Amino acid sequence: MSVAENISSLRSQLTEDVTLVAVSKTKPVSLIREAYAAGQRVFGENRALEMAEKHAQLPEDIEWHMIGHMQTNKVRNIAPFVSLIHSIDSLKLLQEVNKRASQNNRTIPVLLQFHIAQETNKFGFDLAEAIAMLESEPFAQMENVEVHGVMGMATFTHDENVVRAEFQKLKKCFGLLQSGIMSGNSQFRIVSMGMSGDYEIAIEEGSNMIRVGSSIFGSRA
Ligand SMILES: *Cc1c(COP(=O)(O)O)cnc(C)c1O
Repeated sequence: MSVAENISSLRSQLTEDVTLVAVSKTKPVSLIREAYAAGQRVFGENRALEMAEKHAQLPEDIEWHMIGHMQTNKVRNIAPFVSLIHSIDSLKLLQEVNKRASQNNRTIPVLLQFHIAQETNKFGFDLAEAIAMLESEPFAQMENVEVHGVMGMATFTHDENVVRAEFQKLKKCFGLLQSGIMSGNSQFRIVSMGMSGDYEIAIEEGSNMIRVGSSIFGSRA
């Protein structure tokens, strides 16, 4: 199947409220162009320099989403154009995003990444840490970032019950923040969860943004 066929088959499974992020990491610009020609406008990358290089070669109306763990010294490379950073996992990173956004006279939308998986090599906050950050004085000072929701990755396992329980946990954290510290903030509405192997479960559990790579572009080396 071609990239265009994969995208249209995925789209036919999605309701309008679910945003498809096409994860193009490691894939050549030529394949991104194929997806673009099929109408796809939102692309996800996990490395800042790779994203910046691709951004420079591709149409300006693409929305670039950063989905991977970021080092603070790479934020400046994407700050001029990135549409959404899914992978905010520390106050320090968020402060750097705020600083670089300000230097570019813009506001950068972000998601808070939650650690929901069993693997310890995955990044993210737990609920108490996220609330502590959102209540902190440094956060109150930030004028150039907007928190639009949450993101999480489930454990890499074939056990559907484990994956489902982790997605339920993320959705619950989202709900508690939405009705708590983020209440009154209508921009706080994104639940980014679900990849090629588990997006169906994620949508059943309340995802409204899925990040799909290999099911669109083929497996990665
Ligand atoms: C690579 C990646 C994806 C996409 O994974 P696939 O299994 O290829 O769909 C989604 N989210 C994150 C954070 C990723 O790093």
